[in-house]
Amino acid sequence: MTFLSKTLARVKPSPTVAITQLARELAEGGKDVIGLAAGEPDFDTPENIKAAAVAAIAAGKTKYTAPDGIPELKKAICAKFLRENELSYQSSQVSVSTGGKQVLYNAFMATLNPGDEVVIPAPYWVSYPDMVLLGGGTPVVVETSIDTGFKLTPEALEAAITPQTKWFLFNSPSNPTGAGYTWDELKALTDVLMRHPHVWVMSDDMYEHLAYDGFKFCSPAQVEPGLYDRTLTCNGVSKAYAMTGWRIGYAAGPEPLIAAMRKVQSQSTTNPCSISQWAAVEALNGPQDFLATRCEAFLARRDLVVAMLNDAAGITCPVPEGAFYVYPSIAGCLGKTSAGGALIDSDQAFVTALLEETGVAVVHGAAFGLSPHFRVSYATSESILTEACSRIQKFCAGLK
Ligand code: PLP
Repeated sequence: MTFLSKTLARVKPSPTVAITQLARELAEGGKDVIGLAAGEPDFDTPENIKAAAVAAIAAGKTKYTAPDGIPELKKAICAKFLRENELSYQSSQVSVSTGGKQVLYNAFMATLNPGDEVVIPAPYWVSYPDMVLLGGGTPVVVETSIDTGFKLTPEALEAAITPQTKWFLFNSPSNPTGAGYTWDELKALTDVLMRHPHVWVMSDDMYEHLAYDGFKFCSPAQVEPGLYDRTLTCNGVSKAYAMTGWRIGYAAGPEPLIAAMRKVQSQSTTNPCSISQWAAVEALNGPQDFLATRCEAFLARRDLVVAMLNDAAGITCPVPEGAFYVYPSIAGCLGKTSAGGALIDSDQAFVTALLEETGVAVVHGAAFGLSPHFRVSYATSESILTEACSRIQKFCAGLK
């Protein structure tokens, strides 16, 4: 349709829509569907955070705020970066947006020109390449593999950088693999970036607090202070504080970039919800001990899912360092036919047959740029996960 913009034509519809739609149709038709596709914690938002929002409403904090965040929240964000990441920022270097997604979107809109390249390791969060396209840039996808724990090697990063590279987009722990870079692994990447002063770093630290087995989270500007002046450190309250619906994300970086992002936001959405901002102040300044308790629950779920999937014929499931996803390979299932008669010639065929024949909804690896895999979100109860993994085992045992 010629009425629609050429920019939008460059963007593909969300690859997860088809599988989500099929799951919905099957559930409506009475099938017992187990959804392991959603990327959000099943836990509730902590009570003290909800109470802060209620108090904000009662106090009439229900009007427009400064476009990129109230001073109290910016102060809480600066304190968080210093306390948890050894990063020192002033409020003028902080931007608050409607979710972590808008932070990244604003940054791309504020900086990309036609021809600008953004290096994105695959598998990646589904929105990264399309946000780059919407901003008019060119995504340069660099595949990793199960053999490197889905982590980018310094050699692959070096090879992907050209004179047109504007950003390197870094995400650890990762959606969809859960892979987390150690200090040394990240230092090897930042060493490469130090040799290319024209490349900026966008670090998406959304899953920082979801890390297991003593894994120590670190962020690029922390590991290499020499990158501080060209790094945008992005984060949000959605995953750690179980606040996906509240829509608060934030970033800190050089003032001119933050000012440009403010301009994008002030001419599009204006401020993020005033009430959610006050809730986020409480999330960041309030008690943090519940994070460890929730991580213990996630760790038990991760171990359960990894063990059960590795017992399924044809599936290899690595143990990830963080987030609440696993990203098993189905290489051993390709070329086979399911008990229901479906030829498994791709990860899309695998997840479609799995859903139709067992009712378990997962997302195929092609959606995240690396096949043949699928992503399981284990942010649900152990009893549901046990049932889902038993069904996957049975499905795989039936492949001939
Ligand atoms: N970054 C990553 C890696 C994510 O997985 C997500 C959400 O799934 C986001 C950012 C966006 O989070 P928000 O819900 O705060 O927009």
